[in-house]
Amino acid sequence: MLVPKGRQVDPENINHSSSALQLLLFVDERPSSQEQIQRIKTYLQELQTNYPFEFQTIEVGAQPDLVEHFRLIATPSLVKIYPEPRQTLTGSDLIGQLQQCWSRWQEDAERHRVNLTKPESPVDRGISYALDRIRLDDEIFKLKKENEDLQAQLQFKDQVLVLLAHDLRSPLTAASIALETLEMLQNRDPSEWPPNLVEHLCKQARAQLRTMNRMISEILQAARDKSSQLRLACYPVQLKPLCEEILAGFERQIEGKSLGLLSDIPQDLPMVYADAELIRQVLVNLLENAVKYTQEGGRISLSILHRTSGKVQVSVEDTGPGIPEEKRDRIFEGHFRLKRDEGREGYGLGLALCRKVVRAHHGQIWVDSVLGQGSCFNFTLPVYRG
Ligand code: ADP
Repeated sequence: MLVPKGRQVDPENINHSSSALQLLLFVDERPSSQEQIQRIKTYLQELQTNYPFEFQTIEVGAQPDLVEHFRLIATPSLVKIYPEPRQTLTGSDLIGQLQQCWSRWQEDAERHRVNLTKPESPVDRGISYALDRIRLDDEIFKLKKENEDLQAQLQFKDQVLVLLAHDLRSPLTAASIALETLEMLQNRDPSEWPPNLVEHLCKQARAQLRTMNRMISEILQAARDKSSQLRLACYPVQLKPLCEEILAGFERQIEGKSLGLLSDIPQDLPMVYADAELIRQVLVNLLENAVKYTQEGGRISLSILHRTSGKVQVSVEDTGPGIPEEKRDRIFEGHFRLKRDEGREGYGLGLALCRKVVRAHHGQIWVDSVLGQGSCFNFTLPVYRG
């Protein structure tokens, strides 16, 4: 293999620990890439014999944060992290590109070496320093995000507690009135009791207790789901089989309401980097709502679009009653239900959980709707850059 002739430097004079040129080679584990990766590594090693520099090989699956940091879109990629400006080479002819850049990179590195050896050189910009700084930035970003999530979780818990206390009051009052009436009856002669009253009051009290029990169960379930969102277990996920499995689980409900179902998921959809179980939960919530709020004989569809190089967009559409424009954000805030739907089963928490999950994946969720014609809930997920 031809090694370009750059400026020849005596290796004896190079201080390896402060090498002036630092490269990162990002690789993946796909068997089809291994031959190319090996060629690049061999080539870099040959270059090193003429001009010592530092390079590290980074496995993208093990370091997704670094991949995100350098905004890499393909592997293998070679990133010159020092000296600045940073430069990224990607593509099938990576060696050819490197041959073209090599003399310039060496010259830049030599210019910076002169600066580095000056006593007043302010910082050690070694590769480990650069990597430490990147990791630190990522760590700070993660901690900030965790802090925000915890704050939001605390706020959510406070909010739910207040609302739960408020909502429990009405079934509690109704159950108490039924019991008090029963107590009053005890002091009267049974012959004076209105017919069926005792039976009616007992039934009333039991129904109110059941309502309270359902409310508490839903809240406990929601609290469990919320705390698990803080522990995302992300990995590359194929959305098509996941969606097909979920849709299969809805068959009976969809048939029961004679709904039409359309699914439009491209074969060549890229994988997303996500927590599959939480995404399943989002899809199930959206589909459950679509089924719940769409009248018999309506239509539901699930479609996915590869929207930009970095995102896919998932959409669940229905021909239900739609959502008034001024409420399209509020329904995601938690414990909010449209007045018209208050009689239906539910606790107004499903969409808030969906938003929490999607945001934890750095995605967005929103609804488009035409009142009286239907709603389309959309959310985005990051594409896995393998
Ligand atoms: P729940 O369905 O348990 O009330 P959600 O958080 O899932 O709670 O939804 C909040 C509110 O948004 C619902 O009460 C309903 O008023 C409205 N909504 C949600 N999905 C739809 C839909 N597909 N069509 C019409 N309205 C919807």
